Amino acid sequence: MAEKLTAVKGMNDILPPDSARWEWLEDKVRALMGRYAYRNIRTPILEHTQLFVRGIGEVTDIVEKEMYSFDDRADKDGKHDQLTMRPENTASVVRAVVEHNLLYEGGKRLFYMGPMFRRERPQRGRYRQFHQIGAEALGFAGPDVDAELILLAAALWKELGLNDWRLEINSLGQPEERAQHRAELIAHLEKHGDLLDEEARRRLHSNPLRILDTKNPAMKEVVESAPRLLDFLGPESLAHFEGLKAILDANDVPWTLNHRLVRGLDYYNLTVFEFVTDRLGAQGTICAGGRYDYLIEQMGGRPAPAVGWALGVERVLELIKEQGTSVELPVPDAYAIVPDAAAWPVASRALQALRAAGVSVQMHAGNADGMGSMKSQFKKADASGARFALIFGAAELAQGCVAVKPLRGEKVEAVQSQTLEPLESVALWAHGLRAGA
Ligand code: ATP
Ligand code: MG
Repeated sequence: MAEKLTAVKGMNDILPPDSARWEWLEDKVRALMGRYAYRNIRTPILEHTQLFVRGIGEVTDIVEKEMYSFDDRADKDGKHDQLTMRPENTASVVRAVVEHNLLYEGGKRLFYMGPMFRRERPQRGRYRQFHQIGAEALGFAGPDVDAELILLAAALWKELGLNDWRLEINSLGQPEERAQHRAELIAHLEKHGDLLDEEARRRLHSNPLRILDTKNPAMKEVVESAPRLLDFLGPESLAHFEGLKAILDANDVPWTLNHRLVRGLDYYNLTVFEFVTDRLGAQGTICAGGRYDYLIEQMGGRPAPAVGWALGVERVLELIKEQGTSVELPVPDAYAIVPDAAAWPVASRALQALRAAGVSVQMHAGNADGMGSMKSQFKKADASGARFALIFGAAELAQGCVAVKPLRGEKVEAVQSQTLEPLESVALWAHGLRAGA
């Protein structure tokens, strides 16, 4: 036998029946986004490397070490593109919004779902291909939209039956305010230089704010005693933050202030937030976001504010599992038993009519040597989870009928048998089946 091939490390197949949980989540998200009037955007998975270097920031985990980048083959003119598989989708959304001038008539509310790629060490809740669902509101400056996005996420948790989360918020203020804080932060960190780990020392002058985000317990005290950004914010930034909090309070969305919450991407200002759970170990952040009022301009667009979040689908699904929420797995309404291959033509016509009427039917598939025994077909019918078996036996077909046998102990009233011709009668019966579903 040939050597078996496997999926790439850190990249998972999503198989049935588990994929049904993914679809269930995606359906809920689509419905909810519609209720908040967010519209779907789909951008390419490959982008120019420069997009992420510029958009996410050179001194970030993602750009420093996590991107899947490669040189594309040269075109006829000998030039080649440097491409990267998107590690996140906000930069691409902004690129698309600028490229297509989507803000020409005012703000836009957008959402996306899809795979992202980061070359991280695979572990529970951390993969190299993972999936995000994100919502972005571009062109809106007020804290009302920050709040709307957080309320949308909270509504999603409710819709998914998740209650084991907490919301952490912080404000990063504006660049000038951050610059003042930065100087004092660096001084503080330098004073405790001996306690900094290697990464912190490296970031001390390039991106000191990120040091506050450290997961190294040995640095806990240093970062907790560090000067707080919030103390450097002016009245406008503070008013924005208060505006957000007032709306969250009015909607009974509990929040906690986390002074160390700074987010791993460089483009944020003012509001930042994370939804965190304690039930997933170290990978406890299920959703994260914030305001990025300077990114659009940085990407060559006319200056416009923006705010958004992204949730990790794998982590959210894991939390749903962890909480024991059961997701109904799909089963066919009916399983078609065909004792003899001679019945294929007429059975297939009846099944087409049923499916066209919205009934889901799994057909017993034949083998090279025929259809298999009735016993084995009934076994399969039972295992399929279907409510009914439809039996296309010779006796029934001779009368132009199909036998209907309930498989889950239900009593079917009146009809045990349905006429096949005209096919509309099958369709009518199918409507009854759906209505009683
Ligand atoms: P972390 O601190 O866990 O690395 P991050 O700050 O890099 O997260 P974001 O870029 O903000 O994450 O992405 C938003 C969400 O996407 C995260 O909160 C998380 O739920 C999910 N996520 C990020 N990276 C991964 C990954 N490698 N595997 C699975 N989910 C991920
Ligand atoms: Mg990360």
